Amino acid sequence: MNIILLGPPGAGKGTQAKRLEEKYNLVQLSTGDMLRALVASGSELGRQAKAIMDQGQLMPDELMVEMIAKRVDEPDCANGFILDGFPRTTGQAQALDKMLAEKGLKLDHVIEMKVDDAALVERITGRYTCAACGAGYHDKFQVPKVVGVCDSCGGTEFKRRSDDNEATVRSRLEAFYAQTAPILPYYRDKGVLKTVDGMAEIDEVTKQIGALL
Ligand code: ADP
Ligand code: ZN
Repeated sequence: MNIILLGPPGAGKGTQAKRLEEKYNLVQLSTGDMLRALVASGSELGRQAKAIMDQGQLMPDELMVEMIAKRVDEPDCANGFILDGFPRTTGQAQALDKMLAEKGLKLDHVIEMKVDDAALVERITGRYTCAACGAGYHDKFQVPKVVGVCDSCGGTEFKRRSDDNEATVRSRLEAFYAQTAPILPYYRDKGVLKTVDGMAEIDEVTKQIGALL
């Protein structure tokens, strides 16, 4: 089963993808995480990527498609994958379809997660992850059971993304509405688009998605 989670930054894609991975034995492919790994590698391409991401802008379509094309060939994706943060433009959506068709693969569900802008800013500026295992938390909406200790791995170090500040969030939201939202009719026309209420509580969103699959 191959799924796309589509929604603005902070909609809860990563949070739900982690749950789907476990429940359905799928692999989360987060292009944001892949790019941050590229930046951390310190390569020239990584330096260029950082400059673009710090401005809240999108990476070139070709680079992103190539990144995903390579990744889905790996054996852990054989049972299916969840795309989180990709595609971001209609060009990427079309290139993705072509690439999957060439590999004999298809998309089963595209799930739109709808959330109000004000809630997005609050979610993004309050989020952080465990430095050791990547589990996601929020200052207000998802605090660890023991303060300062990761529920999943017991780690005590946490990190925040450098682009999770209010100014960058605003430009990321603008990029979403200008460049990514136009993908929705593309998938609606293909009959694979489903929508969930991303404003609901995390467990409720998980239930809504489960009912669609
Ligand atoms: P995305 O991957 O779409 O950018 P995340 O999954 O990182 O979004 O979620 C952003 C933040 O909002 C995280 O801190 C997460 O804990 C919190 N969050 C996610 N889903 C919900 C929800 N349904 N209600 C409240 N907070 C949520
Ligand atoms: Zn952890």
